[in-house]
Amino acid sequence: MYQPNSKRYDHMTYRNLGNSGLKVSAISLGLWHNFGDVDSLNNQKNIIMKAFDEGITHFDLANNYGPPAGSAEINFGRILRENLKGYRDELIISSKAGYYMWPGPYGEWGSKKSLIASCDQSLQRVGVDYFDIFYHHRPDPNTPLEETAHTLDLLVRQGKALYVGVSNYQPKETKEISKLLKKLGTPFVVHQPKYNMFNREIEDELLDVLEEEGLGAVVFSPLAQGLLTDRYLHGIPDNSRAARDDSPFLDEERVLDTLYKVKALNEVAQNRNQTLAEMSLAWNLRKEGVSSVIIGASKMSQLESNLNALNNLLFSEEEERKIDQILMA
Ligand code: NDP
Repeated sequence: MYQPNSKRYDHMTYRNLGNSGLKVSAISLGLWHNFGDVDSLNNQKNIIMKAFDEGITHFDLANNYGPPAGSAEINFGRILRENLKGYRDELIISSKAGYYMWPGPYGEWGSKKSLIASCDQSLQRVGVDYFDIFYHHRPDPNTPLEETAHTLDLLVRQGKALYVGVSNYQPKETKEISKLLKKLGTPFVVHQPKYNMFNREIEDELLDVLEEEGLGAVVFSPLAQGLLTDRYLHGIPDNSRAARDDSPFLDEERVLDTLYKVKALNEVAQNRNQTLAEMSLAWNLRKEGVSSVIIGASKMSQLESNLNALNNLLFSEEEERKIDQILMA
């Protein structure tokens, strides 16, 4: 019988999502990769249990995570039932709909038909009555924003989601949907954008919009899928994401293109007595408005190292300048 670590809340930091009362762990665990049917269930279980034992409360899913699509939700649900039964009220479980999930006109995007069906399917796969956060995964240019907003509101009123969020929305779209959801009185609390040293787009405008609208940012791919770690410093390991066929968004070319910057950043990290992964996460968390970083992890050792990021979140002006110089080179 699993006994959780009684000190699990001692070292984690919790931050509010914008102006809302909802706190999330500064480090969240994402199940996009490494939690599908192609991955070891035992490894998944060990990583999820360790995360919970170290105070991670927020676990991020989507309908299409796997592969195959849907399997990450099923696997997480199984681990939840078999090991974390009785701890549902200590967890923030999120899911999303918007990317392709099933054939035909209703299997993706943002219509009422699609979002309601997808949320129902996800609840079934995970085996829970509600999601703590349900996201619209990407904006839909062919559905009126009013319809998507109305549907997110409906999911809350039906008790299928406690809070709602959007992901991959541009600043203008975010403002628009925020206005609509405010009028409806919907607990819209979070945006999930990409943010890491190699992709700082949210610093241009989005973070200001989120502040104005009272929303938090829970950011994805904070390690640029592993580039901002020591994973590729000495070549491309066989079991790494850049080498796997089922991960089309990271390849050898991207690894080689960024390697000179990664090496320079690694030196800055060493001078801070951090690994590059730790420094990269700390760098994301230094930014006001970033409530949490959603990490991926294929191994327990990665999770353990990433948790150490919280030991040093402060950057001197000189360190910030040095990092900026490296990134702009
Ligand atoms: P990361 O940038 O954290 O990349 C995770 C990968 O980096 C791991 O799989 C591992 O690669 C490597 N890694 C992690 N920690 C270390 C370490 N300490 N040392 C060395 N290598 C390390 O995040 P993801 O891109 O995985 O995204 C995280 C989550 O964000 C997703 O699971 C999902 O929940 C969410 N997301 C949301 C999106 C959206 O559209 N809303 C889009 C993408 C992600 P390896 O596998 O090679 O070991």
